[in-house]
Amino acid sequence: MKKETKLLHAGRNPENNFGIVNPPVYHASTVTFPTVDALHKADKNPTEGIFYGRMGTPTSRAFEEAIAALEGGEKAIAVQSGLAGITGAILSFVKGGDHILVTDSAYFPTKKFCNEFLSNFGIEVTYYDPMIGSAIAELMQDNTKIVFTEAPGSLTFEVQDIPAIAKVAHDHGALVMIDNTWSAGYFFNAFEHGCDISIQAATKYIGGHSDIMMGTITLREEHYKMVKTKLNVLGYCAGPDDCYLGQRGLRSLPARLSRHEENGLKLAAWLKARPEVTKVLHPAFEDCPGHEIWKRDFTGSSGLFSIVLDGKYTPKAVASMLDGLDLFPMGYSWGGYESLIIPFNPKGARQVTEWVEDGPCLRVHAGQENIDDLLEDLAKGFERLNNA
Ligand SMILES: *Cc1c(COP(=O)(O)O)cnc(C)c1O
Repeated sequence: MKKETKLLHAGRNPENNFGIVNPPVYHASTVTFPTVDALHKADKNPTEGIFYGRMGTPTSRAFEEAIAALEGGEKAIAVQSGLAGITGAILSFVKGGDHILVTDSAYFPTKKFCNEFLSNFGIEVTYYDPMIGSAIAELMQDNTKIVFTEAPGSLTFEVQDIPAIAKVAHDHGALVMIDNTWSAGYFFNAFEHGCDISIQAATKYIGGHSDIMMGTITLREEHYKMVKTKLNVLGYCAGPDDCYLGQRGLRSLPARLSRHEENGLKLAAWLKARPEVTKVLHPAFEDCPGHEIWKRDFTGSSGLFSIVLDGKYTPKAVASMLDGLDLFPMGYSWGGYESLIIPFNPKGARQVTEWVEDGPCLRVHAGQENIDDLLEDLAKGFERLNNA
């Protein structure tokens, strides 16, 4: 079955649910057992059976089954946010004295977790240039347990050579994790490219409507029980309504993503032709570092990209452009139906690579609006920018 078709059916079981199309939402903490024997049986298999609300319900298990199908992994675990997916996956595989490698282009809260939390437990973190490829071999240590990748990178969109990095990591006995949120697990198959664990903020495209917080960790059967048990000890779990909405989001994911992709490509092409814009950091455009890798490894693009403006524009001029936009509200997060924009400066967020652009940067999320309305709004914004 092709991906679009599979996503319509994954994690459903109408035959066992009165023929009702979608799985029910179980709100549950306590699960009761009629006998001591049944209680002890359930005790022995909490990661697969239905045992206690925090360990999973039929609702979370149905969602997890569908996510594993989307990502091409064997198992998935839903947690309370994308960041919890990242911290939970990392914490499951490290102990004091270990070393991990993290891309310098990682989502900033991922870096904060590494800098301000892991370091307190004696876990050493080295950042690497996202364009490093197989030269990552030089950074591997005997105690390196994880290479944490993200492709394309947050805000700056470098596309990493994941297969090359994975080969080196595996030769050294390290696991490869990827923050796969940008591709929604739809435009990039992490497992086919050498990743061992794929993490997403389901908050973004999987939910798709800016109304849930959830993360997913997709992994192989061999890691499932250990990770699920550790996450339980940490108290990580996802709420039933969010699991339901996430699963509902999956049904329309292909259709929504193709609209985000189309609008993203149109916006980026239009912006590239503007004299105010010096660079378009969209993986499908040549300006973007790793564009050739994106062409080789990805099957499409989502709606999130950045642009660099000419260095002559002041922050005040940029503010007058952004403050007056009607269809691009400013806000963090993305992946909902509407367009968004934020100004950013990568300079302070880099550990080992230098950001050389001197112009102001904007990150754009292409929503599902009519493209002509979006372009008209931006054209007026550029007028304000130039008049400021
Ligand atoms: C938003 C985001 C996260 C974190 O997700 P939350 O659900 O907000 O915790 C992680 N990685 C990337 C790339 C993101 O954009």
